[in-house]
Amino acid sequence: MESVRDNCGVFGLYSNSACAQDIYEGIDFLQHRGQEYCGISTFDGKIHQITHYGKVSNTFTDQELSLLTGTSGIGHVSLWERQPLMWQSKLGEIALAFSGNIINAHELIEEMKSRGQAFYRSYNIEVIAKIIIEAGDIVSGIAGLSKKIKGAYSLAVLTDRGIYATRDVYGFRPLILGQNGHQCAVSSESRALQNLNINIARDVRPGEIVLIDGQGFHSVKQLDSPRKAHCAFEWAYTASVDSVIDGLYVQEARSNLGGSLAQRDMDEGGLIADIVAPVPMSGVGHALGYHKRSGIQYQEVFLYNRYADRSYTLSTQQAREKMAKRKLSVLPYAIEKKRIVLCDDSIVRGTQIRNKVRELKKAGAREVHVRVACPPLMYPCDFGVSTRSYEELAARHFLKSGNITSMKELKDLEAWIAREIEADSVKYNSIETFVSALGIPQNDLCLKCWDGLRPTDD
Ligand code: SF4
Repeated sequence: MESVRDNCGVFGLYSNSACAQDIYEGIDFLQHRGQEYCGISTFDGKIHQITHYGKVSNTFTDQELSLLTGTSGIGHVSLWERQPLMWQSKLGEIALAFSGNIINAHELIEEMKSRGQAFYRSYNIEVIAKIIIEAGDIVSGIAGLSKKIKGAYSLAVLTDRGIYATRDVYGFRPLILGQNGHQCAVSSESRALQNLNINIARDVRPGEIVLIDGQGFHSVKQLDSPRKAHCAFEWAYTASVDSVIDGLYVQEARSNLGGSLAQRDMDEGGLIADIVAPVPMSGVGHALGYHKRSGIQYQEVFLYNRYADRSYTLSTQQAREKMAKRKLSVLPYAIEKKRIVLCDDSIVRGTQIRNKVRELKKAGAREVHVRVACPPLMYPCDFGVSTRSYEELAARHFLKSGNITSMKELKDLEAWIAREIEADSVKYNSIETFVSALGIPQNDLCLKCWDGLRPTDD
């Protein structure tokens, strides 16, 4: 998949021994959620903090980790903001890190400025810090976020009492707790826990405030949640395939989404193809699901070049496209004269999938049929995932109204996209088949990318 970029990953650990190395590894396991900035804060009576521009393994040194002393701490990876943010206040020294987006940040900043507050960089996390600090204590401050903030936040706050973790009342972004003997952790994704041998305990509930300390984790407050709105995009693309989010394995979700695409082909008369293949890496689970349901042979057609990564981040679209080309090379032996079902998670601009279709045809593929796990992307995200602007969404160029109201409209769009990306056919999951494949009630999901409805406006 192209152009959709993640936002942030949060990790926190309370231990009985030095924690910096484990936090380093924890955020390294969340690197797929944000590649521009990373940072760690630890506590040993006072807070120590180091942040970097760049990826975790390329920036932190052993010497830096040795300076991050203490047995509790938080870490962060981000696409947008340098975090954690350390603050000295009447509540003592605290450090904060969050994943999400504040839709009304500008209004909140202007309102606070009018009351004499100063802002360093007007980061989202600065707004969160100031709202918390204005309250009398941390728990009231965190609870106050739900009244002031429109948007999404999964948050960790490092204090002298332990780590407070919370999820907004809709539960947009994931946050999961784990425990193992003397270690208690919180993470944006379960894979960071699993890989540190910390047992998964449970998800933080929407609107719940949890304190993690030497006694484990305790729910200290539960705010009213008007409804759940878990980001459906997490299962289709954002989260790592080895994670489990709100009780649903990402791998299972992707397999079901691919199976649903195969079922549609079977229901519509069957697709005669020789192989089903993924666009690596995010298309792998979908392609396996398609293969399982259809019986069509699974075959890799691109080699993923694991050494193509760079030690610095890529800031322009052109640079990212060049890197995408370096990352995937065609496997000609697997392709020649084949009719290929090519699975991907979504189509954003359409430029990268068109390049892939062209490369396969140039290498001798007879037909390329593109199957897309997500419904057509019609709206940008307001809740912390960079899905680009309206103008950049390919489907929006065809369907200006933004909403697909019938199967005929979906099929017309698919035919147009197929011509644009030079594929022999294109099919998406509809919103209905997408939700049904996830197996989560529609009202518990955010689907704003596809239906334009903000759950916070309900
Ligand atoms: S708008 Fe899309 S990416 Fe954003 S939270 Fe909702 S489903 Fe997820």
